[in-house]
Amino acid sequence: MTRTVYVNGQYLPWGQAAVHAEDRGFQFGDAVYEVCEVRDGHLIDETRHMDRLERSLGELKIPLPMARTAWARVMRETIRRNRVRDGSVYLQVSRGARPRDFLISDAVDMVPTVVCVARSANRAKLEAAAIVGIGVRSVPDMRWGRCDIKTVMLLPATMAKEQAKEIGAKEAWLFDEKGFVTEGASSNAWIVDSAGKLVTRPASTEILRGVTRTTLIDLLKRDGIELVERAFTVAEAKAAREAFTTSATALVTPVVRIDDSAIGNGAPGMLTLKLRSHFHEVAEAAAL
Ligand code: PMP
Repeated sequence: MTRTVYVNGQYLPWGQAAVHAEDRGFQFGDAVYEVCEVRDGHLIDETRHMDRLERSLGELKIPLPMARTAWARVMRETIRRNRVRDGSVYLQVSRGARPRDFLISDAVDMVPTVVCVARSANRAKLEAAAIVGIGVRSVPDMRWGRCDIKTVMLLPATMAKEQAKEIGAKEAWLFDEKGFVTEGASSNAWIVDSAGKLVTRPASTEILRGVTRTTLIDLLKRDGIELVERAFTVAEAKAAREAFTTSATALVTPVVRIDDSAIGNGAPGMLTLKLRSHFHEVAEAAAL
């Protein structure tokens, strides 16, 4: 089946899905994106993803390219044309194309570039991998000071993941100059500390406020599980009882190893697996 990609109002075959050579997303990383889970023919947490997309655009003063109803139609049509039942949908909005110029203050008449891509995932395979858990590598955080905006400037994340791969780890946990974990290269970081408390770093400009993180906090409230929002060091994470990551594509994924240190007994933690299995009970599931 030929994959179809939405680009600026058109549904195009994958090989023809192109944007302009002078697109500011391409030249300056002047673009934002979202990734939303598709599960059993439902879009998961669409409202929160759209809220965050609009916030990212607002922080960068990129005009809103379309209304929510239009986004909803584009995502569903892209999913439908690619016959995705389980997988993800990716949205990207750049400031648009114009002759290269650092300044954006004159670019008042720019028309944003909009891209939507849908992709299937093998849920059974993902589930089987999650039960085993993943290793992560601690890597210095070299990103900028506005990690709360979901921009496409992903080179530091890409490089960190390459470093993780070198030691057979699936994700990098980034740490600041004081040794505190900020977040994963493409996920949020959580531990159950040595006292048994669930801990994650508070949302700030240093991390992305993950939609999965926010929805998981709903689950914790529903189940009366206490959460401590504080920073933790790599050393503390290595001594933790449990560790896990959250993201829209990997959901709640157990971390069983950080660098050379096994977490707990080296198997996914009990609370982690419970949170993974109950996650969708609180997530918003909108029909396609
Ligand atoms: N942090 C970063 C840096 C990410 O790239 C992601 C994935 N988009 C997350 C956290 C998790 O966010 P979400 O739960 O919304 O996928």
